[in-house]
Amino acid sequence: MKYISTRGTDKNITAKEAISQGLASDGGLYVPETIPTLNQPLEALLKLPYPALAKAILQPYLNFSEDELTACVDKAYAPSRFTHPKIAPVTTPLENEDNIHFLELFHGPTLAFKDMALSILPHLLKTSAPTEELVILTATSGDTGKAALEAFCDIDNISIAVFYPEKGVSPIQKRQMVTQEGDNTHVFGVQGNFDDAQTGVKKIFSDPNLVKDMAQMGKSGKKFSSANSINIGRLLPQIVYYFYAYGQLVEKGSIQTGDPINFSVPTGNFGNILAGYYAKKMGLPIRKLICASNDNKVLYDFFQTGVYDRNREFHCTISPSMDILVSSNLERLLFHVTDAKSVRKMMEDLNTQGRFECQAKTPDFYGVHVTEAETRQAIFEAAQKGYIMDPHTAVAYYAGQRYIKETGDNTPQVVISTASPFKFAADVLDALKVSGEKCGDTEDDTAAIRILSENSGMPIPKAIAQLAQLPVRHTIVCSVDDMEKTIREQVL
Ligand SMILES: *Cc1c(COP(=O)(O)O)cnc(C)c1O
Repeated sequence: MKYISTRGTDKNITAKEAISQGLASDGGLYVPETIPTLNQPLEALLKLPYPALAKAILQPYLNFSEDELTACVDKAYAPSRFTHPKIAPVTTPLENEDNIHFLELFHGPTLAFKDMALSILPHLLKTSAPTEELVILTATSGDTGKAALEAFCDIDNISIAVFYPEKGVSPIQKRQMVTQEGDNTHVFGVQGNFDDAQTGVKKIFSDPNLVKDMAQMGKSGKKFSSANSINIGRLLPQIVYYFYAYGQLVEKGSIQTGDPINFSVPTGNFGNILAGYYAKKMGLPIRKLICASNDNKVLYDFFQTGVYDRNREFHCTISPSMDILVSSNLERLLFHVTDAKSVRKMMEDLNTQGRFECQAKTPDFYGVHVTEAETRQAIFEAAQKGYIMDPHTAVAYYAGQRYIKETGDNTPQVVISTASPFKFAADVLDALKVSGEKCGDTEDDTAAIRILSENSGMPIPKAIAQLAQLPVRHTIVCSVDDMEKTIREQVL
């Protein structure tokens, strides 16, 4: 499989080159030239355990040897890294709603779905560029930072630096990051918001002096790389769990092989749901991909009108990992439904006017906007029916219900569950209308977590329970202007 840039300049790129470079030289994203179709019957694939399925799905995309791919997959999806033996289990927990299933992607080390792809990314990178000394630079609004730190911790010849907005992450998210272990990990607070941190990181990436200086460092030079979802190495591993969910529904007898299903996906950067689109194009019987947006509903508007417009107010919601106005991975979908020339024009319009228009149809997707009140209502109602969900999952659950009402389509539905409710305990409790101690304003959410556990009967996940005992290892906070200096002094 060869890769090309969505903007058309880079062609004939190998998977290893695409993964180690991250972004294409023309500013576009790498996509496979064609989406491969299955080379074996679906039936056979569906019986495989997660690591073997991951191997089968990834193989046509990667120019890796069999041994290389096996090693990557086995390290990433080792049972010890996940707290559930199935790694990504499907549950059908709601009373009287046998048709609504949940694919739980939060049983990894950091309790959010980012673990699914970030667990394997370091190994894909290492295999793609075995001798390079890499410095992974990431700005995070919460979940990506911790998942990347955990994934790259103690990987030889790679160091990782994460910048988070000092006042823009949840108490648990901050605590998870500042207690990160590993000699090769660095975590810095930024005096600014997520956009400031993100812009600062992009500036460091393309600073010619810094890049030149780094070429002189270490044994044969150091290079920056990225752990966010512009890297194709983060997108591809996400295709796997769509197949895996389907297989579990067949195994439970909820569907038969060949029957269509729908997925409802809580969406921010459009990475998760795009992997679902790839799964569909590969041959998985998916009828609709329901794109669930919170109040930052650029994607909902786009699927309604064909106009993408980021000129709008930014909303801070209780599903912060979806608070995003520029969904980078949409560029990949645009390429698949139009061509490089059109993508160049659309991205230029986005750059200069903050908006663009796309004429092409996108019948695989159905956009739904879910308000804050509806998100809380969804958490409350699902809890009444026996399932406690986090706010991101609640957006997708509500969107799936709205989809059924609007279309009458009762196809079995899988809601993608992207985070443990314990990660957002205070907001979950608030939605559940649990009164009692004031719990939303403690340093580290300890009270909220305890009350949530007591009320739900669910044990506190170990990754959260142990946080209070871990020493704080990362205390540096810098201004946006000092980010480069911080990297030079602390990381290189
Ligand atoms: C990142 C994230 C999302 C959004 O996923 P995208 O791939 O950015 O669309 C949803 N929920 C949680 C918990 C996340 O961490």
